[in-house]
Amino acid sequence: MSAPKIPSDQLAQVIDKTGGPIVYKRIPVQAPGPDEVLINVKYSGVCHTDLHAMMGDWPLETKLPLVGGHEGAGIVVAKGQLVGNDIQIGDHAGIKWLNGSCLSCSYCRQGEEPLCAKGLLSGYTVDGTFQQYAIAKAAHIARIPKHLSLESIAPILCAGLTAYKGLKESEARPGQTVAIVGAGGGLGNMALQYAKAMGLRIIAVDGGKEKGEACKALGAETFVDFQTSKDLVKDIKAASFDGLGPHAVILFAVSEGPFQQAASYVRPHGTIVCIGMPANAFIKAPVFSTVVHMIRIKGSYVGNRQDTDEAIDFFARGLIKAPYKVIGLSELQKVYNMMEDMTIVGRYVVDVSR
Ligand code: NAD
Ligand code: ZN
Repeated sequence: MSAPKIPSDQLAQVIDKTGGPIVYKRIPVQAPGPDEVLINVKYSGVCHTDLHAMMGDWPLETKLPLVGGHEGAGIVVAKGQLVGNDIQIGDHAGIKWLNGSCLSCSYCRQGEEPLCAKGLLSGYTVDGTFQQYAIAKAAHIARIPKHLSLESIAPILCAGLTAYKGLKESEARPGQTVAIVGAGGGLGNMALQYAKAMGLRIIAVDGGKEKGEACKALGAETFVDFQTSKDLVKDIKAASFDGLGPHAVILFAVSEGPFQQAASYVRPHGTIVCIGMPANAFIKAPVFSTVVHMIRIKGSYVGNRQDTDEAIDFFARGLIKAPYKVIGLSELQKVYNMMEDMTIVGRYVVDVSR
């Protein structure tokens, strides 16, 4: 394939200062380093993490100015001299949250690269995918088969991958029940579809009629509405088939409450997996019942390269059909506003060309 023409500048959404606003403007296109590729981003999903990055919510500083975004799907248009022949110009590829890692520390060597102390984070410590041309370390790009739609695979690159990994980390087995908390959002919707494909029974927890209907359409047997339930703990336990509570609870919610309630309804010997990261939040559990019920509480953070391929494979087999809406990159601020109001059902994907 002849080398595509790469412009010297491009349109991007840029955060100049923490707290925003984001500014839609022209910025230079960067050249990839020796071990990097340049990807012409076509679509990028919008993750709640992008909002945390703009607001400076987390105890980890972002780069500034910053181009956010870490669910970018596009086409490889340039590569550094050290990038091997397994990546060719014209290949379809994805940029994930983990943009790069050292590949030589004990975590990287064991396939736990998200734990690498030198990890580079797309749309956080390096510029991400809310621009037309974005850079990633070649070793970490997601390989996207050409027959798959770049638009619909974009949300798999963080929401799908993270939800799938969290379900694996829960060690829930086919036939067992998982409570998915924050099920109406981007990661939650994905978790419903992956859980269903993995043979799990699902209790979805979120707020509002529209999210309830969406959750049921995506595979939840029961929906518990946190906004109207008078006794959430009782309702979630009652929804598990034998009343003992779900075998696993996966927490995607963007508020602290669920992180303090889960230990009250998870089944004895069950597992609580924390994935959502509300600002300044703490997990709480009574020591007595955590001990005598042998409860496990753990975190789960994105996924490694193998998890990425597996998550894409579920999608490629037609098992993951979480809904998304497409909007122009120029309208990204609107997505952030809706996200803050918790009115988004599923995911928004930005079309980077407009
Ligand atoms: P989202 O805004 O699409 O969804 C969040 C959902 O939580 C919303 O539907 C909201 O209604 C729901 N919610 C809020 N309070 C609730 C409550 N009390 N009970 C039940 N549901 C409640 O966000 P998202 O993009 O799905 O991201 C979710 C969280 O996961 C964010 O904090 C994000 O930063 C984090 N995240 C973590 C990882 C990781 O690797 N651990 C990866 C990606 C995103
Ligand atoms: Zn994300």
